[in-house]
Amino acid sequence: MLEINKLEKQFGDVRVLTSIDLNVEAGELVFVIGPSGSGKSTMLRCCNRLEEPTSGSILLDGEHVTACHGRALDRMRLKIGMVFQGFHLYPHKSVLANVMLAQVKALKRDKAVAQARAMEMLDTVGLAHKADAMPGELSGGQQQRVAIARALALDPKVMLFDEPTSALDPELVGSVLKVMKQLREQGMTMVVVSHEMEFAREAADRVVFMDGGVVVESGPPEQIFGNPSSERLRAFLSRLR
Ligand code: ADP
Ligand code: MG
Repeated sequence: MLEINKLEKQFGDVRVLTSIDLNVEAGELVFVIGPSGSGKSTMLRCCNRLEEPTSGSILLDGEHVTACHGRALDRMRLKIGMVFQGFHLYPHKSVLANVMLAQVKALKRDKAVAQARAMEMLDTVGLAHKADAMPGELSGGQQQRVAIARALALDPKVMLFDEPTSALDPELVGSVLKVMKQLREQGMTMVVVSHEMEFAREAADRVVFMDGGVVVESGPPEQIFGNPSSERLRAFLSRLR
C-alpha cells in the first residue's frame, strides 16, 4: 500500500535520511521507533510531501506520490491521513464542523453527506455525543480522537501517526491507543511513530528502528524487543528501561 524506496532527505548540507526503504502492506500496522532526531518525523512528512524528498520515490497504492504536482498532489495528500502530536483543531468551530470541514472544502462533498460521514467517524472514536461541543471543552485525549476522526472522514488509504499520544496526560493515552487498535482490527493501513512500547508489542505487525537517518533494524515486535541484533537497538531499548 505504501512503498518507500531509497528515500533521502537533506536540509542544506545536512543529510537526515539515508536510503530509507520501507514497504507497508495493506492492513499492516508498522511501528517506527528511534531516538529523538533520528528522522522519524521527516520520513512521515516526506510521505505526503510536507517535506520534499531530496531523492528516492514513494508510492501509495501503486501511484507515485513523489511525481505529483499541483492538484494531483492535493488529491494524493487527501489519501494520506496524518495525525500529529498537537491536534490542530479549529477552536471556534464545533467538533462536528471540524470533522466536516475538509470533506466539504477539499473533497467537495455535499454538506449532508459530510455530516453523516462525520457522525459515523465520531462514533468510531467514541465521541458522537460530543458533536456539538467546542474543542476547548474536550480533554486532550478526546481532541486527539476528533483529529483522528477528521482524518478518517476523508477515507485515506493509509494513516500516519506522529507521536499521537506524546502531548497527552498519561491517563488519557489509553483512549487514543484503543482507537488505533480498533482501526487496525478494521483493516486500516497505519504507520505509527511512538514511544508506547507496550502498545507496539501488542498491536504492531512490524517494528522499524531508525537511528541517525537510517533504518537500522526491522522485524516483528517479538524479535525487535526480545532479540535485538544490533548494538544500537540494544542500547536504545536499555535506555528506555
Ligand atoms: P525525529 O522525529 O526522529 O525526532 P526529525 O525527523 O524531527 O527526527 O529530525 C531529524 C533531523 O532533521 C534532526 O537532526 C533535525 O534537527 C533535522 N531537521 C528536521 N527538520 C528540519 C528542518 N526543517 N530544517 C533543518 N533541519 C531539520
Ligand atoms: Mg519527531
